[in-house]
Amino acid sequence: MPPATARAAVLASYGRPLELREFPLVPLADGEVRVRVMAAGVCGSDVHIWRGEDPRTPLPLILGHEGVGCVDEIRGAKQDVYDQELRPGDLVLWERGITCGRCAYCVIRKQPALCPHRRTYGISVGCADAPHLRGAYAEYIHLRADAHLIRVDGDVDPAVLVSATCSGACAAHAIEQAHIRPGDAVLVLGPGPMAMFLVAFARERGAGHITVIGSRRSAARLAMAQRMGADSVLFRDETSLADRLEAVRDQTHGFGACVVFEASGSPEAVAEAVEHTAPYGTCLIPGIAVPVGRVPVSVFEHIARKNVRLQGVWVSDTSHLCAALDLVLSRRYPFDEMVTHRFPLDEATGALEVVERREAVKAVVMP
Ligand SMILES: [Zn+2]
Ligand SMILES: [Zn+2]
Repeated sequence: MPPATARAAVLASYGRPLELREFPLVPLADGEVRVRVMAAGVCGSDVHIWRGEDPRTPLPLILGHEGVGCVDEIRGAKQDVYDQELRPGDLVLWERGITCGRCAYCVIRKQPALCPHRRTYGISVGCADAPHLRGAYAEYIHLRADAHLIRVDGDVDPAVLVSATCSGACAAHAIEQAHIRPGDAVLVLGPGPMAMFLVAFARERGAGHITVIGSRRSAARLAMAQRMGADSVLFRDETSLADRLEAVRDQTHGFGACVVFEASGSPEAVAEAVEHTAPYGTCLIPGIAVPVGRVPVSVFEHIARKNVRLQGVWVSDTSHLCAALDLVLSRRYPFDEMVTHRFPLDEATGALEVVERREAVKAVVMP
């Protein structure tokens, strides 16, 4: 029997420490699933939300849109996205976004990530109203009947899987849009968890030289990117833009990178990413998750006369989550080394801090 209440780390006011609160476990409706959270990933977006920079967030809010856990209770029969029967005790991941399944983006354009009715656990669903437990920084999460779940079989560390649910899924979405051809030089700006997936996915797609740009304080992240398959790294704070452009051109027969991913979230990096893009190349922007203002780019020089394709990448859908999970489970890349910090639920604020200071490659809250 589960306890009558569950603890959760609640964002009650922006920038303040998260508050540990108790919520009642509400009875499930038909098709709903309650999951005992084993691991909740701390995403860069969580830091933006904590700081009050994400316009989607209501307060109070249980943070945590990256979760892995064990099925605690199911009301009625429930299958995962592969039509496997779910039972109490099963290890599961869930798609963090719930889309309507009825609008033009869901049904006609087949772009559920753009569904205007999309709501996300731990981001856009507050905890003021029952069933309260809608974020992963909690002992339990109460999933709606239309949530997409994936059962994971075998002995896997839940902490290693959390990155697949957001950073990995968004990277899979960006890779889908990138159309990497064998041998294409790839550049990634911003060595966070998303970059680790971008590097590994690019390797899978037969990319040529892969470079990752980051700062000296992100040295541990850059080293991790190399273990994932990056060929070279560049320190942003020890080089000028001209140095970096020259270094990338040197690796690419003078062209620049065929495929560039801006994964740092900074507007300056967007402008730099466009400049690095080779003629007839693609510059993708999966890293911008909050309003960052306008970016000055030389439209003539760096886009129009180079036939550069600029591609926005907004969140991800369940297909991308499945692709990222499969990549982690393939064990072809050292995703287990990505988890550098683990925190108990009552130290979740500390987890946000190490991510904000970029000390962690991946920090995980273990409720
Ligand atoms: Zn929709
Ligand atoms: Zn995220």
